[in-house]
Amino acid sequence: MNVIIAFDPHSAPEARRRVLQEVGVSDAPGPTTRWHGSDLITARSPYLGPSVLSDLRADPAVRQVVRLEEGQLLSRSGGPLMRSAHLGLAAGGPALIAGPCSVEGRTQLLETADAVAAGGATALRGGCFKARSSPYSFGGLGEAGLELLVEARQRTGLPFVTEPLDVDQLDTVARYADAIQIGSRNMQNYPLLFAAGAHTRGLPILLKRGLAATVDELLLAAEYVLLGRLAAGRAEAGLILCERGIRTFERSTRFTLDVASIAVLQERCDLPIIVDPSHAAGRRALVAPLALAALAAGAEGLLVEVHPEPEQAWCDGPQSLSLSEYAALTHGIDAMLGASADFA
Ligand code: PEP
Ligand code: MN
Repeated sequence: MNVIIAFDPHSAPEARRRVLQEVGVSDAPGPTTRWHGSDLITARSPYLGPSVLSDLRADPAVRQVVRLEEGQLLSRSGGPLMRSAHLGLAAGGPALIAGPCSVEGRTQLLETADAVAAGGATALRGGCFKARSSPYSFGGLGEAGLELLVEARQRTGLPFVTEPLDVDQLDTVARYADAIQIGSRNMQNYPLLFAAGAHTRGLPILLKRGLAATVDELLLAAEYVLLGRLAAGRAEAGLILCERGIRTFERSTRFTLDVASIAVLQERCDLPIIVDPSHAAGRRALVAPLALAALAAGAEGLLVEVHPEPEQAWCDGPQSLSLSEYAALTHGIDAMLGASADFA
């Protein structure tokens, strides 16, 4: 039986040792024992009957005990963390998170923010620290970009999501942002996953599927975030998963949108699933059909790249929608959802 024990951060080492002895677990890292930060341990325990569990729960050194099988943190049937709604999720319609790939400047950002807000977006996106394949490509405006996103939020009222590339950038991003994006290339940056989950601000996290990651690997990455939440003593998962296309032999799209993963993830976990059609498509003509397919398959929201002048974009221009194309997409979504409501 596996157990997760979150210790009270102020508990004494002897008190912790006593607790671990009670469940037959050594405090030294080993094949079935692992510390996550300084106060959370996961281990296989031979003695976890109901009376041991209730003793542990009453122990002042212990903040939380969870008995679980792997994957249960994400459980559809009553895991220890509650599903939560952010960025417009569960607000009646699909969440629409839209904005430029990268923040390039004030005019570009504010023009985009105004347009997506007018088109019913529920949140704004914009990269300030960019994970680029080439070290010679534009790497983002950094903190200056975050300040512009704050201005866009003040003006439109939209919360924004943006991405730190590593643990060192997490505090900076968390000081400004309403949600933390963990990008595809960082889905397996395990220290970042845990640190983002454990961050003191408790911001929601939008975790993108790795571009060569299986659904199982995405779900295990999600567990790292959720262990961070438990380590920080939180009751909400505050985690959104995002399918953004995977690498296959197919070359006609930038990535292959794994539409089936939406339904598979919904079978396997109780987290909101959204889809990024832009990075999957790689070119703007395909964004709307993939977006509609994703919603038809049950995605709860979309993450879409929008730029006032896509041909001039410093990053991902070919897949960015113009402002009018974004407006057309929102009408397409309304029409599809309206038609399906009539059908129902
Ligand atoms: C992004 O959304 O800005 C991004 C870089 O996407 P991904 O991590 O999915 O490549
Ligand atoms: Mn992009």
